[in-house]
Amino acid sequence: MCVGLYFYWVAGNATTSETDEKILSYVFCVYKSEIFINRQRIGTKNKFNIMDKIVEIAKKRFRERKTQDVHLVADSKANELLNDIENNPHVYVLACLMDRQIKAERAWNIPLQVFDYFGTHEINKLAEIPLEDYKKVFNGKKLHHFNDMMAEYFYKAILRINETYKGNAAKIWQGKPSSALVVYRFLEFEGCGIKIATMAANLLARLFDVEFSDYYSIEVSPDIHVMRVMKRIGYISQNADREMAIYKARELNPEFPGIIDAFCWDLGTTCCRPVNPKCNECIINNECKKQIKL
Ligand code: SF4
Repeated sequence: MCVGLYFYWVAGNATTSETDEKILSYVFCVYKSEIFINRQRIGTKNKFNIMDKIVEIAKKRFRERKTQDVHLVADSKANELLNDIENNPHVYVLACLMDRQIKAERAWNIPLQVFDYFGTHEINKLAEIPLEDYKKVFNGKKLHHFNDMMAEYFYKAILRINETYKGNAAKIWQGKPSSALVVYRFLEFEGCGIKIATMAANLLARLFDVEFSDYYSIEVSPDIHVMRVMKRIGYISQNADREMAIYKARELNPEFPGIIDAFCWDLGTTCCRPVNPKCNECIINNECKKQIKL
C-alpha cells in the first residue's frame, strides 16, 4: 500500500489519537524496513563486487592466454613431455589420472618415472607391457599411496588410449567438442572421478588453449588452496564443503564455472597461504572480507 493511500485509510477509519499511533507505528515500520533493505543491498553489493572483480580478471586472463610451456613439475624433462600434448597427449592423460590423494607434483611425475623404468614412452610399446610389470614399478619406486590400484588404472588407461583412441589421446579433445563430452571421455577411464575429469578439461582449456564449443561443464576444482581463498573472501561459508564451492562457482558464472579456478589457486599458493597471508600484496586486498581462520 502506498503512503498516501495508507494515510487516507487511517484518517477515515480511526480517531485522532488512534490515527497518530498508527501513523507512528507505520513510520517506524518503514524506517526499520529501509535499514534492513539497505543492509541487504550493502551486503550484496560487497559480496558481488569482489566476485565480479575476480570473474573479470579471470576472463581477461582466459582471453589473453597464450600457448606456452606450462610449469607443471620441477623436473624439466617431465615438464616438457607433459606439455607436449600434440605429440604425446597420453602423457598428460596419464598424469591427470594419477592426481589423486597425493601431492600434484608427485602425481604428475609418475608417468615419466614409469617411462624411464621401461625405457619408452611410446603408447604402442607401453601397451605390450603386462600389468604385473606396472605393479612392480609402482611398488618398487613407491610412486603412489595405492600402488597396486594406481598401477592398474595406469595400465588400463594405456590400453584404452591404444584401442579406443588408436594411440592418440588427443582425440579426446580434438575437433572442438563440448566441455561435457570431454569430461565424459575422461570419466570413461577407470579410476577417474568427476574431480579429475573436470580438472583435466579445465587445464586443457585454460593452460593448453584447447578449444571447446562451450565451457559449461568445466567446473571449479576446489582443492585446499581454492577452498581457502573462497572462504577467506567470504564467498562461501567457513564450513562449506567442496560440493558447495562447486555450486557457488556455477551460480557465479554458469557459462564457465571453472574460470575462477586459476585465480583462486594462484592466490592460495602465493599470498593467501594458510598462515601469515600477505594481504598487503594481494590484488583483492581492498575488497576481501579477510575471514581468516588460522
Ligand atoms: S586479501 Fe588476504 S585473505 Fe583476502 S585473498 Fe588476499 S591474501 Fe587472502
